[in-house]
Amino acid sequence: MRVLSGVQPSGLLHLGNYYGALQQYLELQHEEEALYFIADLHALTTVRDAAALREATFEAALAFLSLGLDPSRAILFRQSDIPEITELHWILGCLVPLSHLERAHGYKDKTARGIAANFGLVAYPVLMAADILAFGADVVPVGKDQVQHLEFARDWATRFNLTFVDRYDPQDPEARLPGSERGILKLPQARLQETAAVVPGTDGQKMSKSSGNTIDLFADDDTVRKQIMGIKTDSTPMDQPKPDNALHRLLQLVAPPARFEQIDASWRLGGKGYAEYKKALLECFHATFEAPRKRREELIQDRGEIERILAGGARRARDIAAPIIDQVRRAVGIR
Ligand code: ATP
Ligand code: MG
Repeated sequence: MRVLSGVQPSGLLHLGNYYGALQQYLELQHEEEALYFIADLHALTTVRDAAALREATFEAALAFLSLGLDPSRAILFRQSDIPEITELHWILGCLVPLSHLERAHGYKDKTARGIAANFGLVAYPVLMAADILAFGADVVPVGKDQVQHLEFARDWATRFNLTFVDRYDPQDPEARLPGSERGILKLPQARLQETAAVVPGTDGQKMSKSSGNTIDLFADDDTVRKQIMGIKTDSTPMDQPKPDNALHRLLQLVAPPARFEQIDASWRLGGKGYAEYKKALLECFHATFEAPRKRREELIQDRGEIERILAGGARRARDIAAPIIDQVRRAVGIR
């Protein structure tokens, strides 16, 4: 099984990225062939500062490695190093109905937040489908916000195969029955981390780099403290039971199970104020991420090594994409 997923270097990685996505990536690298990439081309839809993008890309690579990605097993690469992806994005885009893109959640969510709609933002799901289909990925671990995009990728892969592969049978995409032909583009499956499908941010909305509501995995201690102490709560008095809210969800994710049970008991009973729970969250955050944060301090000393890892990842990734894109070119008639 081939697993593939990516994160955008549109800012620093946060708890939502970790519990919603990266934690699964790291587990899967031991079991499956895994490709993880830093989606710098996707980040261009919102980032307008070259130095910031370069730095965030480097930080994302550092984050993956600090959290335990083993580059001799998993393939870690930068999206823009693989020209096959952008080529497939165009070819696929020529088959994508505009109506699909108009109802894409990511696009609707970002424009609703006032981000101006440019071609790149509208075309985002096409580039994402190309990311996945260029490598023939079987499984894509994602947060809930990306599930619809995965459905699009499956739909468009089916359209491509129906259009360009004779005797392709969508009921039998792997051609298990005699008489049908296997598709060129493989249909990927989304894999959702149910317990952390949508990690809330400090304002209670989905935690997002582009929303300014994050708790960052690798920010300095002072910033992390401010982010955690700034989690929005209500005015429930100290002695009263507390309602379910973002702070409670975050404690559930970050605290070890036994610790969370204690926390949860007093939460339902009343007697403690929110400030105390925020301090508990801060403590649990540091206990959980202390080792990766230390590791990042070591890895950051050797920028050349990070570059070498990304270059090696790009070579391995292109070896997988090239034969697939070659078939695509022939099928559509540009070769
Ligand atoms: P942006 O705001 O720029 O879109 P983001 O914070 O949403 O950034 P992405 O790079 O788009 O992060 O997403 C990387 C991965 O993390 C995806 O698989 C996505 O589903 C997951 N993810 C992002 N935010 C959350 C969240 N709050 N809860 C669960 N998963 C999340
Ligand atoms: Mg996102």
